Amino acid sequence: MAEGAYEAALKYSKQRKQFGKAISDFQAIQWKLADMATEIEAAKLLTFRAASMKDAGMKTTLESSMAKLYASEVAVRCANEGVQIHGGYGFIKDYPAEKFYRDVKLCTIGEGTSEIQRLVIARQLLKD
Ligand SMILES: Cc1cc2nc3c(=O)[nH]c(=O)nc-3n(C[C@H](O)[C@H](O)[C@H](O)COP(=O)(O)OP(=O)(O)OC[C@H]3O[C@@H](n4cnc5c(N)ncnc54)[C@H](O)[C@@H]3O)c2cc1C
Repeated sequence: MAEGAYEAALKYSKQRKQFGKAISDFQAIQWKLADMATEIEAAKLLTFRAASMKDAGMKTTLESSMAKLYASEVAVRCANEGVQIHGGYGFIKDYPAEKFYRDVKLCTIGEGTSEIQRLVIARQLLKD
């Protein structure tokens, strides 16, 4: 969902013209895209790390919770910024941004809420 929201926003920002130029030419929009792309890569790396540890038969309680917490919250942030980049069009069904925004919140609730992921992480950090 994070990648979908990012790709839709990237595409739209190159198409939408305001003040005589594509909105992707504005630094304010570029910074949003840069943050989205960076956080998506970080979320992927955390997820791949947990997955590769699992494949290696290792215990991944801490790493899985970190990956789930971070990736789901990144997805929410990306969907939010995706709508912002679309402006008013982010609010209507003609563009995918609103669906990402509507659907993404489940990620921080289902399969262990963000609060519970933080609880699991903190328990792992504080044990011993
Ligand atoms: C669209 C959707 C699809 C779903 N699909 C499924 C499914 O297919 N299968 C399935 O089994 N479930 C499914 N769920 C349920 C989902 O797993 C639960 O909603 C989720 O686990 C949270 O439980 P709850 O709704 O009872 O919230 P609650 O447990 O009542 O939590 C409410 C709030 O309190 C916080 N909280 C609760 N306990 C603590 C604590 N000890 N410390 C700190 N904070 C706490 C939570 O993090 C949350 O912010 C789905 C939910 C949604 C919205």
